[in-house]
Amino acid sequence: MTTELLFRKDAYLKTATARVVAVSERGIELDRTIFYPQGGGQMGDTGALVRDSGERIAVADTRKGESPDSVLHVVAAGTAMPAVGENLALEIDWARRYALMRLHTALHVMSCVVVAPVTGGNIAPDKARLDFDIDMSLLDAERITRETNALIERSVATETVWITDDELDARPELVKTMSVQPPRGSGRVRLLRIPGIDLQPCGGTHVANIGEIGAIRVLRIRSEGRRNRRVEIALV
Ligand SMILES: [Zn+2]
Repeated sequence: MTTELLFRKDAYLKTATARVVAVSERGIELDRTIFYPQGGGQMGDTGALVRDSGERIAVADTRKGESPDSVLHVVAAGTAMPAVGENLALEIDWARRYALMRLHTALHVMSCVVVAPVTGGNIAPDKARLDFDIDMSLLDAERITRETNALIERSVATETVWITDDELDARPELVKTMSVQPPRGSGRVRLLRIPGIDLQPCGGTHVANIGEIGAIRVLRIRSEGRRNRRVEIALV
């Protein structure tokens, strides 16, 4: 079952309406959604599905389903499930998602301060990290904080651009993340462009202007293996 991914066009949608298309013990599938499913290192959204009666179905997590673009809204065991065909109002936990969007976009900026292959990453509401294949001696928390914040202060608008699989193959330098290759096969790949700073494939949710990040600080830097030097950041 394919779900229309409303957050792809507008990451700022906090509410929407949708129709239930499938229900299983794994979760609830809708014809469209504003809930981002865990992926690309970004945690899945939480929130609620509200029935016509006003009854709220808490969404504890959001995951990708079996087919491309299918989304599972995960609820707690024992939750009374809606019926297929039922219309629901969707509400995401916006404060949590906005923090994820700010931190996610901050990682794009930081990846231009630490110039090295990215071997991993994760974005939670309170902190985010990237792992780099780099010598520890080249990582300085104070410098990374200062230079990342200097770029954030440029307050440039972010842009989503699409290129074909062939165009991406012709420009392998765009792919910084060795661990997460962009999804291919649909014929086109989504890129996030931060003009003058960064351009790379990404299917996540980002802020419209990097000024919305505010400022970040490096929480810690530690080695998780020879090719995983981990830089963890938080919003200030
Ligand atoms: Zn991204």
